[in-house]
Amino acid sequence: MTASPASPSPTGPIQPDSSAAPSPATGAAGTLDLRSGCQGLPPLTARLEPWMRELLADPVACRDLLEEHGSPLNVHDFSALPRNAAELSDAAAEQGVDLRIFVARKANKTLGLMTAAQNAGLGLDMGSERELEQALELGVPAQDIVVTAAIKPAPLLRLALTSGAMLVLDNLDEAAAVDALLASPSSVPAPTRRPVALRLAPTPSEIVGPTRFGESARTWREWAESRDPVQDALRIDGIHFHLHGYDPLARAHALAEAIELVDALRALGHRPRFIDIGGGIPMSYLDDPEEWAAFWNAHEDRTGTADSSLTWRGEPLRQVYPYHQQVVRGQWLAEFLAAEMAPESTAADALRERGLELRCEPGRSMLDGCGLTLARVIQRTATSDGIPLIGLEMNRTQCRSTSDDFLVDPVLVRAGASASQSTSDPVDAFLVGAYCIEAELIQRRRLRFPGGVDRGDIVALPNTAGYLMHILESASHQIPLASNVVQADRGWRRDRIDAVSPLRPWADPAS
Ligand SMILES: *Cc1c(COP(=O)(O)O)cnc(C)c1O
Repeated sequence: MTASPASPSPTGPIQPDSSAAPSPATGAAGTLDLRSGCQGLPPLTARLEPWMRELLADPVACRDLLEEHGSPLNVHDFSALPRNAAELSDAAAEQGVDLRIFVARKANKTLGLMTAAQNAGLGLDMGSERELEQALELGVPAQDIVVTAAIKPAPLLRLALTSGAMLVLDNLDEAAAVDALLASPSSVPAPTRRPVALRLAPTPSEIVGPTRFGESARTWREWAESRDPVQDALRIDGIHFHLHGYDPLARAHALAEAIELVDALRALGHRPRFIDIGGGIPMSYLDDPEEWAAFWNAHEDRTGTADSSLTWRGEPLRQVYPYHQQVVRGQWLAEFLAAEMAPESTAADALRERGLELRCEPGRSMLDGCGLTLARVIQRTATSDGIPLIGLEMNRTQCRSTSDDFLVDPVLVRAGASASQSTSDPVDAFLVGAYCIEAELIQRRRLRFPGGVDRGDIVALPNTAGYLMHILESASHQIPLASNVVQADRGWRRDRIDAVSPLRPWADPAS
C-alpha cells in the first residue's frame, strides 16, 4: 500500500489503489475488505495477525463478544508471543550469546500473558507487589521472575526476598531498606542468600540520556566493597539497566559501563553472572515506511489549518511512538550485539569472554500482534461548528499510552444497520468517547468512513496489547474498566485478572 505525500488530502477524494478498492465487508477474511470501512487521513495501515483478520471479518462474532462482555473489550491471542521472543533468541544464538527474556508485565495486565510467557519458556518482569503476588499465585517459579518496580515499599521487598525472585536494587535507600528487613529475622524467614541485581544509571552523555533510575557504577562499586562476597545475605548476581528510547547504540554504551562494573565486582570477589539490558526493544505497527513518511509530510503541511486539518482542531502531534521502525526485535538485537565495544571486540564478544548471560525485559515488542480492542458505535453527532463525530462506548484512557496519539487506523466492522444494506453517507469524522471532557478523543486524527458509520457498528483498534489497553486505563465517572478475553482452546474466555478483587482492605466508612 502506498500513498504519495500529497495524497489523499483530507478534503479531496481518497486516491484509489488496488488494496483500497471497496468491497463487501462480509467477504473473504482478506485485509483488503477489512480496510475498506475506515482509513485515516492519510492512511496508517495496521499490520494484522491472521487471528485478527479472522475475527474482524466476522461481524456476528464481534457483536456477540461485546454483548457478552460489554464495550470496549480487550481481545487477546498470544500466539505471536513465542514468535516475537524467538526473533530475539535466534539473534543471540547466532552470536553465541546466552539470552534470557523476561516479559515486562506492566505492558499488559492479563494473567493470560503470564501463562503464555511461561508456556513459551520466558520469564516475567514485575513492577509491583500485586504483579508479583499474582505471578507467584499462578505458580511462576522464582527463577523466572525479576522484580524491577520503580518504588518498592516494604511489603514488596519482603515478598521479593521471601520468594527468592531476582530483586533489582535501584538505589542506596532501597538497599538499606532491604538490610533493615533482613536484620529483623521475623520479617523475612529462610537463611539462604538472596539474589539481587544492581540497577546501573549509566553516565549521561550525548548518546546515553540522563535517567531517574539506578545509581552510578562508582556508587555501586563502593557499596559492594562493604559487602562480604561469600557471607552477605545478598548475593550480587547481575547488573541491570533500562533506558528510555530504543537506540541500540545507547544500550551498547550502557553495556560497556555495566561490563566494567562486573569486572570491578569480580575483582572484589563477587560473582555477577548476567547483565540485564531492560526493555525498549523496538517494534512496528505499520508495515509501510512510505505511509509513515507521507503521514508526517501531510502533518507538517496541514498543522494549524482550520477545518481540513489532519488532527483535532489542527493541534500538532509531538510526542509519539515511532509506529513504523526499520529495525525491530531480532535485527535490533543483532545490531546491539555487533556494536563495537573495544577495538576488534563487539558487545557479543565482551559478554562471551566473561561467560556473562544477557538478559532483557521487553514489553511492547513481545506483545506485538497479541491484542485488539473492540468498541461499539453509540452515536453520530457533530460539534456546534460542524465537525462530524462518532461516539464510542469507550473512553480515551482505554487506548492510550504516553504517546500523543495511537497512529494506527482502526478497522470498521459493519455490525449495525448497514451490515445488510448500505444506507449511510460517507463521512470524515473523529472518534470520541464517554468522559465528559470537550477533547475526549479516542484518536486525535480525522478518519474517513467511505461507506458511512451506523449505530451498532464496531470500531476495532488493532494491536493494542502492549500498553495501549492497560497502562493508563481509568474508571472515572464510575464507568467500569474494560473486560479482557483471551483465546483459549474453545473460543474466547474471560481473563481472570478481571475477577481479582482489590488488595487493599478499605475501611468500611460506616464503621
Ligand atoms: C517498562 C520497562 C520495561 C519494558 O519496556 P518496553 O519498552 O515495553 O520494552 C522493561 N524493564 C523495565 C525496568 C521497565 O521499566
